[in-house]
Amino acid sequence: MAFSYKNGELHCEDVPVKEIAEKIGTPFYLYSYSELKKGVSAYTKALNATGGIVCYAVKANSNLAVLRAIFKEGAGADIVSGGELFRALRAGVDPKKVVFAGVGKTEKEMAYALRAGILMFNVESEEELEVLNEVAKSEGKKAPIAIRVNPDVDPQTHPYISTGLKESKFGIDIEESIKVYEKANNMENIEVLGVHCHIGSQITSISPFVDAAQRVFALIDRLKEAGITLKFMDIGGGIGITYKNETPPSPEELVNAIKDECARRGVKLIMEPGRSIVGNAGIFVTKILYVKKKAEKTFYIVDGAMNDLARPALYNAYHEIKPVREHTTGRIVADVVGPICETGDFLARKRELPLLKRGELLAVMSAGAYGFTMSSNYNSRPRVPEVMVNRDQWFVVRERESYEDLVRGEKIPEFLME
Ligand SMILES: *Cc1c(COP(=O)(O)O)cnc(C)c1O
Repeated sequence: MAFSYKNGELHCEDVPVKEIAEKIGTPFYLYSYSELKKGVSAYTKALNATGGIVCYAVKANSNLAVLRAIFKEGAGADIVSGGELFRALRAGVDPKKVVFAGVGKTEKEMAYALRAGILMFNVESEEELEVLNEVAKSEGKKAPIAIRVNPDVDPQTHPYISTGLKESKFGIDIEESIKVYEKANNMENIEVLGVHCHIGSQITSISPFVDAAQRVFALIDRLKEAGITLKFMDIGGGIGITYKNETPPSPEELVNAIKDECARRGVKLIMEPGRSIVGNAGIFVTKILYVKKKAEKTFYIVDGAMNDLARPALYNAYHEIKPVREHTTGRIVADVVGPICETGDFLARKRELPLLKRGELLAVMSAGAYGFTMSSNYNSRPRVPEVMVNRDQWFVVRERESYEDLVRGEKIPEFLME
């Protein structure tokens, strides 16, 4: 385990978390390099024998050092914006391992990705396909594509992160996709390469993936009969992680369940994991500012808030919370809340925790995915630093924002200055 107690102090690899807090203050995100590597290799090992590609979903954690660590292990990138492509290129991604998803790609983003020479666009609508064909024409290129189909399976996860149902905004109905494929196949500046689906996130059993894959295999067969042969089958991301007591499948289990059917059809498998690579490679460290006891409740008021880690407020998500200094006695049920002026600003509710005092540090576990990337400056709070540990060394990989950073780019027009 990358995060464990040694001599009563929580460590990340061989560095005491307390040591970092003393040097840079709180709150901050902390990532383990060894855990990141482990996360990628679980996929590359499973996929290597099949010739498949792992395209890390950049939106889960897009820090340049995190991306660099992941690309160095052989992964490519799944991007959803021009900004993510910029980050991935900056971190040295191989463009031939980049796939581009998203329902609202702009012409500018399409042109940028075409010039970068990405592997393929995961096209989400017929109109997008037409626009991409036009953009590719004006760039003098052929745009490689997969069509994102909607297999209509229920991944049994939180509705906000469930993306493969018929009523969702993502993808094209699998039935309708055949005529879109035929249209794409006849377009001058489009090259049909594959099929894509992504059914949701934090999925903890293998069956929704296998159901979706079966529907996609049937589509691949029908397309073949229609004279359209695909090279890639991209089954998206979505494998869950253990936040509390979930037991998600391993990448290997999933690959083993479908790889023979892929091989039989001559399609290479692409996977787009985000959370399962970075989620448990990161924690969020925060300090208790005040212990507030009311008749009904105890509140640990901490310096980290919903703007830093949105998942509890947004999805009522559970994150385990551990004291940085190990406590073995005294338990209390408390709410862990931030300083923001919203009742939704909590990191945990009705949680059994040790009896702690002002000034003590807490580690919010499993915070490596959708943590920093969803953070904002709400309440004019500077965004927190990010730190990466490699064995007994640690590196600030993003600095804490300053008050000047908060107002960068803002201007008061002349007429208000009188
Ligand atoms: C968000 C997303 C992913 C990553 O999902 P995880 O649950 O983090 O693995 C992959 N592909 C697409 C298209 C996505 O939108």
